[in-house]
Amino acid sequence: MKVDINRLVQRYGQLEKRVRQWTENVCRPYCSVCRHVCCRDHFCSEVRQSVFLSRVANQFSAQAVFDPAHGWLGQTGCTLVAGRPPVCYEFVCRAIVDGVAGDSLRHHALLVVSMVMTYVGKKAIGGRHVVEVTRSADLKRINVKRFLSRLDQAEAAFDLAADFLDGRQVSARSDLFSSIVSEPRTKKTFYGD
Ligand code: SF4
Ligand code: SF4
Repeated sequence: MKVDINRLVQRYGQLEKRVRQWTENVCRPYCSVCRHVCCRDHFCSEVRQSVFLSRVANQFSAQAVFDPAHGWLGQTGCTLVAGRPPVCYEFVCRAIVDGVAGDSLRHHALLVVSMVMTYVGKKAIGGRHVVEVTRSADLKRINVKRFLSRLDQAEAAFDLAADFLDGRQVSARSDLFSSIVSEPRTKKTFYGD
């Protein structure tokens, strides 16, 4: 199948924009008063090293400026609308889990939101994650079918998890959640804790 990279970048960026918006809305009360901001230089640098993330950032975050001292971090948080490394969504700190995940199903839904961008790009190019490649020529080797199938699944899981966490009347499907990330063993299972 011929690889239309722009189409993949667009689809990925559109999903990431929604994940980022939801995450920011939910996390803002915690992050805005946090004294231990979890952004790190090496995460910011990954965007410039990754040919895929660079393309997403160029298309969706034209106004963002990389600063050698602060990376993409501005006065009010990350300036990238999309194109952040998936690891930036993966970290869910104790304060946020305690505040948002009232029970194990809500905790599972929160982990789903944190892992959907990681899920999309897994094994996109051989065994490598799509954000890992550093040569443009390698993007032509993306397994498009697998990438789009994972994207569709990630989108469905994100929509359900966000609706559920926002209190809308949906039945959470733990099987769909588990296709993205295993359910937490206890409420006190944290990424990066
Ligand atoms: S995710 Fe947690 S640790 Fe990171 S900035 Fe927000 S409140 Fe602080
Ligand atoms: S969220 Fe943005 S500013 Fe923070 S580490 Fe990731 S890319 Fe850098």
